[in-house]
Amino acid sequence: MRCVICNGETIRKNVEYKESGVPLGNFSAYVCQKCGETYFDEKIAEKIQQKSKQMGLFGLAKKAKVAEIGNSIAIRIPKEIAEFLKLKKGKEVVIFPENKNELHITV
Ligand SMILES: [Zn+2]
Repeated sequence: MRCVICNGETIRKNVEYKESGVPLGNFSAYVCQKCGETYFDEKIAEKIQQKSKQMGLFGLAKKAKVAEIGNSIAIRIPKEIAEFLKLKKGKEVVIFPENKNELHITV
């Protein structure tokens, strides 16, 4: 697959996944060689979620599922977070990868 953000080439490799700063283990991902963005397929994402539940981390951070819309992907922002940030439909935000595991959105 190609990177959704920069259209760079992705390679399959194991990456460490953290939730709320706690490492959940290493998981197979597609990593963009250009910008470092990491993608998990649905099966792996489910595995990560299970692990998170096992470790009692689930719910500390809001989980959002990655969806596909045409050629791009979409992540739903939970209502609580949207209200806190005063995010409304049509509002423009700046989005960029903070590092391999974090996505930054400036409102
Ligand atoms: Zn990229």
